[in-house]
Amino acid sequence: MSFYHVYKQLKLLDFEGFLNSVTSNDIKRILHKDLINDEDFLMLLSPAAEECLEALAQKAHRVTVQHFGKTIQLFNPIYISDHCVNHCTYCSFSVTNQFKRQKLTMEEVDREAKNLASNGIKHILILTGESKLHSSVSYIKETVEVLKKYFSSISIEINPLDTEEYKQLREAGVDGVTVYQEVYNEDVYRDFHVKGPKRNYRYRLDTPERGCEAGLRSVNIGTLLGLDNWRKEVFFTGMHANYLQNKYIDTEIGLSLPRIRPHLGNFNPRSEVNDKAFVQSLVALRLLLPRSGITLSTRESAVFRDHLIPLGITRMSAGASTEVGGYSLESQGTNQFQISDERGVRDICDALYKKGYQPIFKDWIHS
Ligand code: SF4
Repeated sequence: MSFYHVYKQLKLLDFEGFLNSVTSNDIKRILHKDLINDEDFLMLLSPAAEECLEALAQKAHRVTVQHFGKTIQLFNPIYISDHCVNHCTYCSFSVTNQFKRQKLTMEEVDREAKNLASNGIKHILILTGESKLHSSVSYIKETVEVLKKYFSSISIEINPLDTEEYKQLREAGVDGVTVYQEVYNEDVYRDFHVKGPKRNYRYRLDTPERGCEAGLRSVNIGTLLGLDNWRKEVFFTGMHANYLQNKYIDTEIGLSLPRIRPHLGNFNPRSEVNDKAFVQSLVALRLLLPRSGITLSTRESAVFRDHLIPLGITRMSAGASTEVGGYSLESQGTNQFQISDERGVRDICDALYKKGYQPIFKDWIHS
């Protein structure tokens, strides 16, 4: 049994018919519930729920404060290689894009880490393009050894690995993995991933589960908003997180809602996801999964990020760069995508304090 079997059942639903049949009375009834079920969750993603968005947002705020207090954990991404063998048309690192690729040496990783660590944030996320040749498990292990000198929690967002490989990285000091399905709709997935190992939908879909089986402390999933109908994609994301959380009760299952941003190439989103849709997705996920961490990236603008803080967010990046060597090297790489919120750590902290929130620089120490 894997989430794939659940997905195959769920995709048979008459989404359009169901979503259009929901009324504002259905949403008002859900607003009075302490815990919502799968059907309620889908109703919260309906057009009818848009009319009750303010009330839903207030409820999402209360639920988040109940489980997390008014705290936001901060983290920094570090890009160490932009070599990639995949053909994702929505990403600068696609193998089809021509630019000078880079991979950091351990001396360069050390320099980047030292520079980043000076801002005080102790959570770091290692990112690479997807190339087993350029970002092998041994290369990631070496990187982790360097980062351990500066950071207390190290997560990875790299090419999907086997369970044994995740175990090796856990033993080396990695405590979390992020892997986005990008798009749950299997047919659309194949349209966007025409070649390369990422074309294997099932292997990618099962990746978070392999991370759980390897004993990683936290596993973070998400869909790239804009690749297909957002109501269905957010529904599958919530169902996937729910499946993982119920099956792996010791693992912290987290979520992100990345929206497509400008990048190298000329891909335009297939499905429009406006700010209102983003908020609706966020509050629906929060009400389905009251204890799950939700990450908000610098893909969103500073103003919008500030508005979202009280609505269910628990993690944010700050002062982030999405290019290899972006923190200290003269010869920097290409942005994976354009950042929208370019504020540094101090400004992000000020914004959080203004809203009555406490930024958390460190809440974990690896053994
Ligand atoms: S999204 Fe990931 S796999 Fe696809 S091109 Fe970008 S880095 Fe490579």
